[in-house]
Amino acid sequence: MAHKPIETADREEIRELQAERLRETVATAYENVPFYRDRLDEAGVAPADIESVADVTLLPQTTKEDFRDEYPDGLFAAEMDEIRRIHGSSGTTGKPKLVAYTESDLEVWGEVVARSLAAAGVEPGATVQNAYGYGLFTGGHGLEHGAEALGGTVIPMGGGNTDQQVQMMVDMESDVLACTPSYSLYFAEAAEEMGHDPRELPVETIIFGAEPCTDPMREEIEARLDVTGIDIYGLSEIVGPGVSIECHEAQEGLHIWEDRFFPEIVDPETGEPLGEGEEGELVLTTLSKEALPVLRYRTGDLTTLYYDECECGRTMVRMDNVTGRTDDLIIVRGVNLYPSQIEHTVLDIEGVAPHYRIDLYTKDNLDVMELTVEMAEDATKSQDELHEVVLDELDAVLAFTPDDLDIVPPGSIARSEVGKVQRVFDHR
Ligand SMILES: [Zn+2]
Repeated sequence: MAHKPIETADREEIRELQAERLRETVATAYENVPFYRDRLDEAGVAPADIESVADVTLLPQTTKEDFRDEYPDGLFAAEMDEIRRIHGSSGTTGKPKLVAYTESDLEVWGEVVARSLAAAGVEPGATVQNAYGYGLFTGGHGLEHGAEALGGTVIPMGGGNTDQQVQMMVDMESDVLACTPSYSLYFAEAAEEMGHDPRELPVETIIFGAEPCTDPMREEIEARLDVTGIDIYGLSEIVGPGVSIECHEAQEGLHIWEDRFFPEIVDPETGEPLGEGEEGELVLTTLSKEALPVLRYRTGDLTTLYYDECECGRTMVRMDNVTGRTDDLIIVRGVNLYPSQIEHTVLDIEGVAPHYRIDLYTKDNLDVMELTVEMAEDATKSQDELHEVVLDELDAVLAFTPDDLDIVPPGSIARSEVGKVQRVFDHR
């Protein structure tokens, strides 16, 4: 059931609201952010030129480099005395991208996360164990704020401390666990070691975020813990978690809260808009942010949009689970691959555990890929047999085979307890 009436509104009503909010957003950005005023002037576009959502393509795009260049507060549209919260998204290198929220922004954020949790099947009164990181990262605070706005109880565990997490879940009967997909597997293994049957734990729903989750990975987690796994999507530059989420009724694509965030798909190379149903890079424009309005942000996430109605009754557009990031593209011997494609193919094979790593080297001026895949505890095939099956599948599905394939015994690949799991190690 929808949490807000707008979730099931007809397309025309959504478009009208979007157009009105887009006009306000462009005006705010133009008046208060010199960066946008310059970009719009350069493009010869005045705020008054924006009439309908189709005019969004007239606007300049914003990139993560713009966030870095404008560090710390060059993109903020509000004065510090209006700003109630600063968050940051840590890059692997350099300065974080800083983001800001007014009181109204925080309220909207709480509301979109509450709406997301409701779509995930979480009900008021649920106990939500939050294993996302707190601090500058938006995951922990965002999820917490939304769960409270929905009328749930939050246990702010943060990342790590897994033995304590398991014990807390048992003692407080947590219904919902919010964490990365890789952490939920780590959690299940730790619970088993502590003598619990993961399927008997109280948790019924896991909200996955901060990491892409392929279908075979989700199936593994759902079976292992006897839960419903729901993918949530978001990014700090736009708001944090709560941009979109799968509905528990269909679990078929993530509904984007279009009254707050306007989505487009563009060609990752040229930046030109693509048609409906085409895969490309997701671009988002905020529609009601006060402290940090963002025009056409290049997310780097690859997906497809679907405007057909969902079985849950929501009319808001759905995006595919993110299949890869433009940054993650691996090019080996001229073949373009995303780690998620390899994951999807390998994890679908019986007898393979959901743990793998990819190592890239240069040998004699050529790219070389080494793939390490872990056997499942209950694998019925031998290491040699699995070796052959994995190579055959990769060749059949991706027309690609690694230079080296290692099938290793259960538990061999290092697990990550905190943060996002690293699967690709580029030594080139
Ligand atoms: Zn739905």
